[in-house]
Amino acid sequence: MENKTLTIAIDGPASSGKSTVAKRIASELSLIYVDTGAMYRAITLEALQNNINIKDQQALLKLLEATEITFEPNEKGQTVFSNGVDVTYEIRENNVTNTVSVVAAHPKVRQLMVERQQAMAMNNGVVMDGRDIGTVVLPNADLKIFLVASVKERAERRHKENEEKGMFSDLEQLKKDIAERDYKDTTRESSPLKQAEDAIRIDTTKMSIDEVVNQIKSLIK
Ligand code: C5P
Repeated sequence: MENKTLTIAIDGPASSGKSTVAKRIASELSLIYVDTGAMYRAITLEALQNNINIKDQQALLKLLEATEITFEPNEKGQTVFSNGVDVTYEIRENNVTNTVSVVAAHPKVRQLMVERQQAMAMNNGVVMDGRDIGTVVLPNADLKIFLVASVKERAERRHKENEEKGMFSDLEQLKKDIAERDYKDTTRESSPLKQAEDAIRIDTTKMSIDEVVNQIKSLIK
């Protein structure tokens, strides 16, 4: 079954399970998955690598104009490219995670990102995840989901993922970092993280991925 026009917006705070759930829904319903967080992460990585001041909106905008960010599906999810270079792993590293919210707070950077995201959804059925999808990017989405979970639960999930990948992980630090990113994302002036009025809120704290996916699929039906 292919869904050429179905658009699903999934928003929520850091590590609430958005990308795992969005990928599953996209693959089961033959929709294109668009990870908008990866786009903000990719431009943040470019800025760090090119010694661009992440507080300088104009310089970031110029950099973004010269940076093509693309996705390619693979068996694990998707590969993220920045001007053709595979940045899938680098964009998840701590230096990017801890600075991306500063880059994403610039209104002009957001405006160009939103234009690109809307273009991706123009002629395609998509599942898009982020912070402002239901409110700004796809205000007319067929279904809007707002995923939440406690900071403790989200930090524990991230900690487990890190350990499984063999990465160093400090649970208490993760809690602090997640709470800090939540604060920055919800209090910024330009399209802060906020539940759209017509979004359905799902608290995933005590739910498995399967349960969340099934609940969303029944909402789609
Ligand atoms: O979703 P992810 O945690 O990878 O997003 C990284 C960061 O990018 C968020 O903390 C937020 O600052 C920013 N972001 C955003 N708007 C989106 C997606 C992500 O501001 N639509």
